[in-house]
Amino acid sequence: MAMAMRRAAALGARHILAASVSASSRVASRRHMGSVDAGAAMEKIRAAGLLRTRGLIGGKWVDAYDGKTIEVQNPATGEVLANVACMGNRETADAITSANTTFYTWSKLTASERSKALRKWHDLLMSHKEELALLMTLEQGKPMKEALGEVNYGASFIEFFAEEAKRVYGDIIPPTLADRRLLVLKQPIGVVGAITPWNFPLAMITRKVGPALACGCTVVVKPSEFTPLTALAAADLALQAGIPAGALNVVMGNAPEIGDELMQSTQVRKITFTGSTAVGKKLMAGSANTVKKVSLELGGNAPCIVFDDADIDVAVKGSLAAKFRNSGQTCVCANRILVQEGIYEKFASAFVKAVQSLQVGNGLEESTSQGPLINEAAVQKVEKFVGDATSKGANIMLGGKRHSLGMSFYEPTVVGNVSNDMLLFSEEVFGPVAPLIPFKTEEEAIHLANDTNAGLAAYMFTKNIARSWRVSEALEYGLVGVNEGLISTEVIERQIKSLNLLRYEPTM
Ligand code: ADP
Repeated sequence: MAMAMRRAAALGARHILAASVSASSRVASRRHMGSVDAGAAMEKIRAAGLLRTRGLIGGKWVDAYDGKTIEVQNPATGEVLANVACMGNRETADAITSANTTFYTWSKLTASERSKALRKWHDLLMSHKEELALLMTLEQGKPMKEALGEVNYGASFIEFFAEEAKRVYGDIIPPTLADRRLLVLKQPIGVVGAITPWNFPLAMITRKVGPALACGCTVVVKPSEFTPLTALAAADLALQAGIPAGALNVVMGNAPEIGDELMQSTQVRKITFTGSTAVGKKLMAGSANTVKKVSLELGGNAPCIVFDDADIDVAVKGSLAAKFRNSGQTCVCANRILVQEGIYEKFASAFVKAVQSLQVGNGLEESTSQGPLINEAAVQKVEKFVGDATSKGANIMLGGKRHSLGMSFYEPTVVGNVSNDMLLFSEEVFGPVAPLIPFKTEEEAIHLANDTNAGLAAYMFTKNIARSWRVSEALEYGLVGVNEGLISTEVIERQIKSLNLLRYEPTM
């Protein structure tokens, strides 16, 4: 049973390998890859016309005004995939102007016309599934199977909001005076600034852009500097789908400059952001001057509770999926696996066995289920957290060090006897480390689970139906997976507590 719960708003929510692969880099790629050669993958993407390295402003592909570029690297090999335009405030200002101008035409189309363009975009994303997935695996590192899954997931937002475009109904409210009639008409608010992270290079964009365009808003997207190629390819397909020049603009490069320009602009009416809590706070504060709407999806610290009465196979499978997706680099990853005393030993040994079966490698290899971490800083963070836990009494049950493949690969790791005084408990590790935390009673599990200011997602494994409802309602999280480890879907908004404010309402 997968249970997704809506909660009250109060609770929340380098030269281009691309352009030409050098002979030496091809050799290097082959050395690393079994199933697909990185050079061949890039050729395929280029042949499809989806290797874009310039920003998109007003329907035109443009270089940074000062000609600067930044390198996009393959985290699995360190190869430079491309040099992309490194933009800043001037390009962002032009992108905003273009979005603002286009707003007056895009918003005047009928919902049905906008819906058709979005539907076409969805179809093009799906018909270029392989190229988009290859791009994601190359620039982000996730295994191809997950990348293909992300294309489905990412495109599903466009499909869903193409359909919803036609259902932006207003309200008729019973009047308070006999001679009055009260009508609510929903109208798009204007230009939306969308700032997205690297861990879902496609889906975090479509999830923000889909609802905005559907309602008649126009968008300036700033993808992560680590993964701009997928964003640019998706934007190319949007243009091909008939989404007009200027309705979707993409700028990337100097993040603080781009962010500041978006925040300061009076034409930008809303900021939607997924990323770190620190940057989210800056954006929220910076948006105050121009009184913008803000939607933030910040860090998560998901608990995953395994009760004594859980089906152990279901619990192992579910917690494995919830923890190790994208090598532990998702905001809904099970960050703290709370295991009841009676099942702890049995669960721990079955879980360790399951984690041992994970194949670490280059995401282009068919057998790979765990790719590299995004960069060296991410590995250092994981090392710090694991070191902190062991210094305080936790025990490494599996892994616990860098992988022999080098680069930013880290061994899938299980750490036992973690407690709430450790970084592995209090902060998001964002890596392939599963901390097991023993508990005695249901009350204790709920208390430990809620002992954080993040409120994005939680998981629970139990065969007791009454307990599943009781505990779901006691968990202060926007999404609760019951006996299920994969809970993300396009149809549910995530409304969350304190540091997370995310809603599908970029426009009204
Ligand atoms: P993560 O740790 O997940 O990379 P970040 O918050 O650093 O999270 O990054 C998420 C997005 O926010 C990226 O697109 C990044 O470039 C952008 N970003 C980082 N700093 C700023 C800033 N000062 N203003 C606007 N955007 C920023």
